[in-house]
Amino acid sequence: MALTASVDVLESPVQAASALVSCGSNDAFSFWKLPQDCKASLDLTIGESRVLAEHYLLEGYLAREDRQPPTRMQAYYRIKNLIPAAVRHRLNSAAIKMRAKREFPRWPCESALIEYWCDWLRMSLHTLGKTDAWHIGFWPDGMKSCIVLTHDVEGPVGMSRMEQMANLEERYNFRSSWNLPLAQYEIDWNLVDRLRDRGFEFGAHGLSHDGRLFRSESDFSELAPTLQERARTHSLKGFRAPSTLRRAEWITRLSFDFDCSFSDSDPYEPQPGGTCSLFPFFLAHLVELPYTMPQDHTLIHLLHRSPMQIWGMKAKWIESLGGMILTLVHPDYCGSGRYLHEYETLLKQLNDYQSAWRALPSEVSAWWRRRDQMKLTVRGDSPSIEGPGSERAVARMLSSEPLTR
Ligand SMILES: [Zn+2]
Repeated sequence: MALTASVDVLESPVQAASALVSCGSNDAFSFWKLPQDCKASLDLTIGESRVLAEHYLLEGYLAREDRQPPTRMQAYYRIKNLIPAAVRHRLNSAAIKMRAKREFPRWPCESALIEYWCDWLRMSLHTLGKTDAWHIGFWPDGMKSCIVLTHDVEGPVGMSRMEQMANLEERYNFRSSWNLPLAQYEIDWNLVDRLRDRGFEFGAHGLSHDGRLFRSESDFSELAPTLQERARTHSLKGFRAPSTLRRAEWITRLSFDFDCSFSDSDPYEPQPGGTCSLFPFFLAHLVELPYTMPQDHTLIHLLHRSPMQIWGMKAKWIESLGGMILTLVHPDYCGSGRYLHEYETLLKQLNDYQSAWRALPSEVSAWWRRRDQMKLTVRGDSPSIEGPGSERAVARMLSSEPLTR
């Protein structure tokens, strides 16, 4: 989609929150991390690039009422627990078919933001009179892309399948993150500790899938303190909203380190949308890690498709661009039988991406914050990077980045 709107008519969904605390920037200069001495020549375009990028990143292209949980969901949540799961999946699948098809973001692959980053870069190199330049590589240790595996554990059945899934991931030398609703069912914290000891990570999946957290200001004010307190008690640094029902400006009121409630493109969630981003970005004081792979639930229960068919294609596309493959797979749906086998097929494919950084969400968040603070200087032909954590950063020529090819 060509971005034709004038920048001064674009509004930021987290304007108020961004004004409070912003730990990093989403402008194009900060995205590419070009040499510091180029900044002054590009200054005029940098502020504008942030507004344009956030038009996508913060779903500013959606109407205000579409950037919050739909009101029709309230009636659904009143009766949700009375409907058997199989019937619920059939009803949701029918509702998806009836929903008006959105042109944007395209699914499963939307490249609008990537095209914008590349257009800005081309224009900037032209302004600088260069055909190529150094920048700070997107991922540490010279890695060319990134793989993050996440799970939301929806119920006791999912919890009972976690170890089996974790064993499978370990077999391919992966570790993953598991998000738990903190007031929905009894959590086996001994199991959590055992998996933590093996290098797995845990996050908060809200309190419950009851649609309340972001429903109204009064619900949020009532529930957020309990959510925060439980997350603190169990040292959970990351958050994903239940059913990804979200309000960006309220998420920024939570004191987590990172959030994973947004997708790059997901028209099939109860609150459709997407950030168009295959990279982390900043959501006020949080790092946002959008899930970039279609959810298993969507593919299996709503679209009735074989997950691997879409997963395989999308993972290949993201890897070819050097982006972040961030999966969201539920042990409840994929933790056993045929679908666990499909998940293994995905792990096998990801295992072949030898130059991909395998990281936990907290590691990606920490890296993205540090990279944002680094400074690149170039003397003659020799680049150097300063700042905390810069020993893992690698300066690369832009022309060697998959994203620019
Ligand atoms: Zn969930």
